[in-house]
Amino acid sequence: MADCIFCAIVAGEIPGDVVHESAGVIAFRDISPSAPTHVLVVTREHFRNVAEVAVADPSLVGEIAAVAGAVAAAEGVGDDWRLVFNTGAGAGQTVFHVHGHVLGGRPLRSLG
Ligand code: 5GP
Ligand code: ZN
Repeated sequence: MADCIFCAIVAGEIPGDVVHESAGVIAFRDISPSAPTHVLVVTREHFRNVAEVAVADPSLVGEIAAVAGAVAAAEGVGDDWRLVFNTGAGAGQTVFHVHGHVLGGRPLRSLG
């Protein structure tokens, strides 16, 4: 999709610090990390958010989760990590190409 920064990273048009790849997704480090491990798991195809990809291709949501788990294991954060999909500007989404944030390596406050 034109003017999408994550499509440009997927296409190799701008650099990304890629840590994991699978058929449907790539994972690269967030440019502005908010935890010692902060990796974005991004679909190769452009979808606006996690709800849109779930409707279009539910298996791809599973692939995002599986790659998130592989990244967490590779990063050595044990069983203590978080997978976050900000959805909508009011919830903090700034890049409108679906991505899961894998966060770990520090204590993470309960959301409750
Ligand atoms: P959102 O706020 O949409 O949930 O998350 C977008 C994330 O993408 C932010 O954490 C931001 O730091 C990250 N980000 C924005 N532009 C780039 C970029 O060009 N490269 C990388 N690696 N991360 C980016
Ligand atoms: Zn895109």
